Amino acid sequence: MSSGTVFTIAVNPKIPPRLLRLEELANDLWYSWDRSTRSLFSRLDPSLWATVGHNPKDFLKRVDESLLLRAAEDQVFLANYNSVLSAYDSYHSEPVRNGATAGLHPDDRVAYFCFEFGFHESFPIYSGGLGILAGDHCKAASDLRLPFVGVGLLYRQGYFFQTIDNLGNQRVTYTDSDFEDLPVAPVLGDNGSEVRIEVEMPQRKVVVKVWQAKIGHVTLYLLDTNLAENSPEDRDITHQLYGGDRNLRIKQEILLGIGGVRALRAVGIKPTIWHINEGHAAFMMLERMRNLVQEGLDFASSLEAVAASTVFTTHTSVPAGHDHFGDDMMDAYFEGFYRDLEITREEFMALGRVRGSHDFNMTNLAIHGSRFQNGVSKIHGNVSARICRDLWPQIEPEENPMAHITNGVHVPTFLAQEWPDLFDRYLGYEWRNNMCDTDYWSRISAIPDHLFWSVRQTLKSQMLYSIRARLAVQISRNHGSEAHLDRLLRFTDPINPNILTLGFARRFATYKRATLLFDDLDWLRRIMLNQDRPVMIIFAGKAHPADVPGQDLIRRINQVAQLPEFEGQLLLVEDYDLRLARRLVAGVDVWLNNPVYPLEASGTSGMKAGINGTLNLSVLDGWWGEGYNGKNGWAIKPGPENMDMARRDKEESRDFYETLQDHVVPLYYTRDKLGYSPGWVKMAKDSMISLLPRYTAARMVREYTQKFYVPASRQGALYAADDFSGAKKIAAWKAFVRKTWEGVAIRRLDTPRKRISFGDAVQFDVAVRLNGLQPEDVIVEMLICRQRNKVTLREFNHIRFEFSGIEESGEHLYSLSLTPDLCGKLDYYIRVYPYQLLLTHPFEMGMMVWV
Ligand SMILES: *Cc1c(COP(=O)(O)O)cnc(C)c1O
Repeated sequence: MSSGTVFTIAVNPKIPPRLLRLEELANDLWYSWDRSTRSLFSRLDPSLWATVGHNPKDFLKRVDESLLLRAAEDQVFLANYNSVLSAYDSYHSEPVRNGATAGLHPDDRVAYFCFEFGFHESFPIYSGGLGILAGDHCKAASDLRLPFVGVGLLYRQGYFFQTIDNLGNQRVTYTDSDFEDLPVAPVLGDNGSEVRIEVEMPQRKVVVKVWQAKIGHVTLYLLDTNLAENSPEDRDITHQLYGGDRNLRIKQEILLGIGGVRALRAVGIKPTIWHINEGHAAFMMLERMRNLVQEGLDFASSLEAVAASTVFTTHTSVPAGHDHFGDDMMDAYFEGFYRDLEITREEFMALGRVRGSHDFNMTNLAIHGSRFQNGVSKIHGNVSARICRDLWPQIEPEENPMAHITNGVHVPTFLAQEWPDLFDRYLGYEWRNNMCDTDYWSRISAIPDHLFWSVRQTLKSQMLYSIRARLAVQISRNHGSEAHLDRLLRFTDPINPNILTLGFARRFATYKRATLLFDDLDWLRRIMLNQDRPVMIIFAGKAHPADVPGQDLIRRINQVAQLPEFEGQLLLVEDYDLRLARRLVAGVDVWLNNPVYPLEASGTSGMKAGINGTLNLSVLDGWWGEGYNGKNGWAIKPGPENMDMARRDKEESRDFYETLQDHVVPLYYTRDKLGYSPGWVKMAKDSMISLLPRYTAARMVREYTQKFYVPASRQGALYAADDFSGAKKIAAWKAFVRKTWEGVAIRRLDTPRKRISFGDAVQFDVAVRLNGLQPEDVIVEMLICRQRNKVTLREFNHIRFEFSGIEESGEHLYSLSLTPDLCGKLDYYIRVYPYQLLLTHPFEMGMMVWV
């Protein structure tokens, strides 16, 4: 090699006219879930396809002209090309009748904000679960033809590439994306020039470029500050996902929230429903309120108007995980805002606080500014209701507005191709129209066991090929010998994939306890190293570069993997991303998850595994708490939350070992003469039958639509009608209730009876001091339920008292005559709370007084 400078010039092929629509396919993330589109590219040049990281747009810039010319005249290729285009055109133009949008108006539009979006490995603007969930939400919205747009940031550096050295140290490499190669395009205005917006930051304005990506029917708008007009510091706002310090974080969140609203305005989109996925985007409400205040609405009414049409989904299980900023920072960035909203600094800060708190917390802001809130699994909904209880101080967490909608995964993205082929044959093509029909999927049991098993084995074998290829690169980079590599790969035989294989892959955050299985290494040895019934475990995952304990987990796994007896049976594979995830979840036999209960908000990788017939062995936390039904996998019961951590680890790891040794291993190796275990196949089928229709993004998006989007549209319209008369009315009413509520009291007048006979009527009388409220401003009610252990308030029947007159003392009398239709011991409570028809949730005021 000479010592001169090397210059590079890219020579882009000319796409032959016959194949011109390849460019269209490369610019629609439809390819992220349509495998035949991806194969179309990869078949042209498989090795280039791998080199460009499965990126169709980049591929088209680098593929050899001669290959394109040949393909343009190759009947086989053209037939393939035509069939992909025909599917693509059907997806984009044929009508669908799925009822998913029932209740929405023609001009309704959902705007969905998120800090990261994960569609495909070729589009690196995601880090993990949150982003992939957001991507799946958009994909399902497209499938269902929901009127829907996404809003996010276009990072030059998405998450990092990971390598792991011999000592188990994680090395990170960030590379800059060239936006030319990503499936994005600048949004152009009417005059044909690129759309720019501005966002104020202290003493300056930041100019923002708006990009768009096409996800089937959905448009995702992405913001970018890397422009010559901005200072170097401001250009870096969109430099890196989850990089930098608190200052960068607040700038990114201002950009997403405030810039996002402006970008939608600039492109002429008028959302009627606003959904923020996690608190990062909560500043969005401030901008919307500012717009209303500028139009002449008062602050309190603008808050009501904005909140009525806003949905907030929280994903965090620990209060410390909620984003928050110090007052000095808020002052620096939002000083102008207090004035624009025509409120004091204290009123402004209150939006981000609850009783006694000091920081400005994005979750508090998100809840103050939304009327629809949810966690992402049943358990997590309850946990979030507890974490956020102070926002509704007089309401028991089990009754407060924090609801739950359990996550789902986009089935076309994560269901391995072999399954649709098999379903087409055994269920008929219309299975695609029955994705959420729980009864329909029991038909899977009619698939012959040996065919079912052969799909499972095919997927496992594909996974083993990938793992072998990755490990070969990994070992050679770490200067391992051929002999070493052979030893490492001796259990990964794709031709004969008959060793029970467990997978554990996710972010290496400490609460996910990646090393729990190492708690008793001797026991683990006895389970894994049995010659007749060996077990292999594959680990993969990234730790955030600032997460030192997370990186220790990687070193620990590496250390155990290098113990001579585990070599080859315990594998650590680097650079976990969507591609490896798709392979692993479908290809291993058992998917492990052992978080510290209740810290796994949902977890979605286990769903991806379950829909592919991979069996879950997990702690009953997150989604598995409701997904497990006793016969579709295995469950570890978490120890009590108040038990000390070391003991809990001990107990739960013990439970893991016992389950593996007594159930998982014997079931897998009890093979019949055809070479597989009928009991295993039965369980894998049960897993698909029970999980496939339930844990899909289609079900999730339908649930968001019916529970939240439709009511949010209705409330938003109701509050905005007649020059915001609804918003004004509810704001004024709430202000009055807040002023008077402290003086409201309730007492019982009748003498409680201990015992009555069935059929007897009982009269209950209470006196309420309304302190200036009107009788119609409150509801007085009885909650009654048969006495039982552990009933929750939600199980009680509610019976309203009638207003019956005013006492001389000024108290209002309410009475109820009740003839119980139940026998036995009944528990009941009596309470009063403020009520107004315009309220979105009956307890959104957070006020209640009990007798
Ligand atoms: C599904 C997925 C996740 C989320 O996994 P959890 O089970 O929530 O930890 C993270 N990373 C990738 C690449 C995924 O595909």
